[in-house]
Amino acid sequence: MSPSNLPRYVDPRQHAGDAAPLTGRYVLADLRRVVAASVAAEGEVGFSLRFHEESARWFAEGRVRATLSIACQRCLEPYQLVVDRAIRLAFVADTDEASRVPDTYDPWILDDGRVLLRDLIEDELLLAIPDIPRHPDNTCVAPSSSNGSARASDGALAESAASPFAVLASLKKGPDPENPKENAD
Ligand SMILES: [Zn+2]
Repeated sequence: MSPSNLPRYVDPRQHAGDAAPLTGRYVLADLRRVVAASVAAEGEVGFSLRFHEESARWFAEGRVRATLSIACQRCLEPYQLVVDRAIRLAFVADTDEASRVPDTYDPWILDDGRVLLRDLIEDELLLAIPDIPRHPDNTCVAPSSSNGSARASDGALAESAASPFAVLASLKKGPDPENPKENAD
């Protein structure tokens, strides 16, 4: 379905058990939050969704696919982030119910029993963007000497490979041998 044919709202109860998945696409430039997170929002996002019911709860599974142009936080140059993300959602009424959904699903709070379809797809796309987007190591144009992680204290450096946040935290705080806590705010 093209963007103009897509329903604004989807009721998971009505689509549970549909023979065909709900498929469609949106123009990236129409997704404000994706535009804000991108260098250039060109092209489209495609998706497919299947709804099902289990124990009086409704679920959606599917995929979202797009290519985003994102700024690398190491060299600040854009790179193409290919998104091909599985969607696994459990629809809930409120945050209390959200805390009880199975671990393998992400909770999605319904708006008056309905889903604002474009928001759902946009959220899935935003979740696919890393917290600190970076070129794959061998394609980044940043010289390694300006990487920054080399300046972290020895203690923090051991953790830095796994967690970019730890590097930022340690750079902000400065080396503190008395308190080698890696996830300080
Ligand atoms: Zn880069």
